[in-house]
Amino acid sequence: MDCIFCKIAAGEIPCKKLYEDEQVLAFHDIDPKAPVHFLVIPKTHIGSASEITSGNSAVVAHIFEVIAKLTAQLDLKNGYRVVTNCGKDAGQSVEHLHFHVLAGRLLYPDMA
Ligand code: AMP
Repeated sequence: MDCIFCKIAAGEIPCKKLYEDEQVLAFHDIDPKAPVHFLVIPKTHIGSASEITSGNSAVVAHIFEVIAKLTAQLDLKNGYRVVTNCGKDAGQSVEHLHFHVLAGRLLYPDMA
């Protein structure tokens, strides 16, 4: 499968890694929309939020545990936003489930 995030997870394409374990990888977004902007992905391919099922949802819970740890380590006292874009109208450009974590500036009202 020609999936850029699968290739990043496999170490075939470099990234600015923040965190990695057996299930997930967190890395800085190549085109940051805020002073802090990183992505957290499952290492196994899930196309989008629409493909989350009872069979693969455990990794999503793990992703949120990792986000809680990383945001605490980064000391994001003023808050942060977690976003996943799903499908064309949401602007999903990479068809591998990923959660954006954005912080370091006021994130409203320009974003919902
Ligand atoms: P989305 O538009 O929600 O699908 O988000 C995809 C995100 O992946 C965008 O914010 C891109 O800037 C980011 N992105 C694409 N390629 C890379 C890459 N090689 N390394 C880091 N981030 C990337």
